[in-house]
Amino acid sequence: MEETFDVIVIGGGVIGCAAAYFLSANTSFNGSVLVVEPDPAHTHASSTLSASSLRTQFSNSLNIQISQYGYDFISHFHDLMSVNGDRPFLKFHEGGYLFLAKSDLQVEIMRQNNSVQLANNADVVLWSTSELANAFPHLNSTDIKLASYGKSGEGWFDNVGFLNGFKRKAQDLGAKFLKDEVVGFNKNKKVLESINLKSGKKICSGHFVNATGARAAEIAGYAGIDVPVAPRKRTVFVFDCANSPQGSASVNNGALPLMVDNSGVYCRPEGSFFISGCVPKNDVDVDYNDFTPNYCEFDDIIWPALANRSKYFEAIKVKNYWAGHYAYNIFDQNMILGCHPEVKNFYFANGFSGHGLQQAPATGRALSELIIHGAFRSLDLSPFCFDRILEKKPFLEKAIV
Ligand SMILES: Cc1cc2nc3c(=O)[nH]c(=O)nc-3n(C[C@H](O)[C@H](O)[C@H](O)COP(=O)(O)OP(=O)(O)OC[C@H]3O[C@@H](n4cnc5c(N)ncnc54)[C@H](O)[C@@H]3O)c2cc1C
Repeated sequence: MEETFDVIVIGGGVIGCAAAYFLSANTSFNGSVLVVEPDPAHTHASSTLSASSLRTQFSNSLNIQISQYGYDFISHFHDLMSVNGDRPFLKFHEGGYLFLAKSDLQVEIMRQNNSVQLANNADVVLWSTSELANAFPHLNSTDIKLASYGKSGEGWFDNVGFLNGFKRKAQDLGAKFLKDEVVGFNKNKKVLESINLKSGKKICSGHFVNATGARAAEIAGYAGIDVPVAPRKRTVFVFDCANSPQGSASVNNGALPLMVDNSGVYCRPEGSFFISGCVPKNDVDVDYNDFTPNYCEFDDIIWPALANRSKYFEAIKVKNYWAGHYAYNIFDQNMILGCHPEVKNFYFANGFSGHGLQQAPATGRALSELIIHGAFRSLDLSPFCFDRILEKKPFLEKAIV
């Protein structure tokens, strides 16, 4: 007899584990859940290579609401994911984001985004040049026309604890995890029936979830489906700063928030160090196995931008660096969520384009609702559905970092 599960989740990164948790925790669902993951150490998963930050500073109401739910969920994570009294704390550091606008176009977009954020009760303020200079006197603000700062509800947290917390709780609630790799599907007309695994096994199911991150297109291809998601390399640098910059004690206790410079370079505190990154000059799809960091980005892009922004960043030293893959949605840089319009028992949760960690709680919950009820029950995420790709109607989000 072939093994059968009600739901098979392909990929055990944060999205797959969140889906397994929300399915298993839902009292309306008595089914069985299997998560297939070839690398339980998550050596190359985006989830473990992430900058692990959460913001409400998006331009689209839905992305703001998804992050607000993510914030709320993360704030209660230790209780929600408690197993046998073991409560995983994610050390959420509510340091905020600080976006800097220099050009008239950046200013205009920042103002538009701010009005959407305020309409969604995000705790974000706009600062003039002098207000920015008062808050962070060490920043060179002369060329900055407007800044946007998240006073609360934004910050960074422990990504590995996040992934493991979901996984452990899902297992505790009955989800099974299998170390193997999906290498194909068996189909009956437009219905998926089973997966083929690298080990030679075949496992049947009624519902299949593609949660394979940057490899989403490869797995979709096994079912004959095109999905516009490709790996794009992002190198993260950890650096030490001889003299740590201190702002006004009245704002964020003087610590730098996650600053997104007008150049696109970002930087935030990480313990006693800082982490930083940028969009590569030549941002192209890379090979699935190419994780070689682009070291030259530090010297060519990051250091000049940071040294220009603060004199404290003139003397910095790289301590560590790594490269991860954004699961980049080439079509509109936002997640693709829900079942395929034709292959209706194949669900997608892909293409997060650099903001998927914070979206894991809302995505896992939404997937469970779609599978159990056939519709979104809490937050209506239908604008992210697969149909938009086929209909060529992009989901509009202006704040992609
Ligand atoms: C450098 C960097 C910085 C980032 N910063 C942030 C941030 O600050 N905030 C934020 O919200 N997001 C951020 N992100 C994005 C975020 O990390 C991702 O969107 C999120 O982790 C995606 O999770 P996932 O589960 O979809 O993918 P992954 O974590 O990549 O997991 C996918 C899993 O699928 C498995 N898999 C692949 N092929 C198969 C197969 N054939 N069979 C079975 N399993 C398979 C893989 O082994 C992998 O473990 C960042 C990403 C990077 C790379």
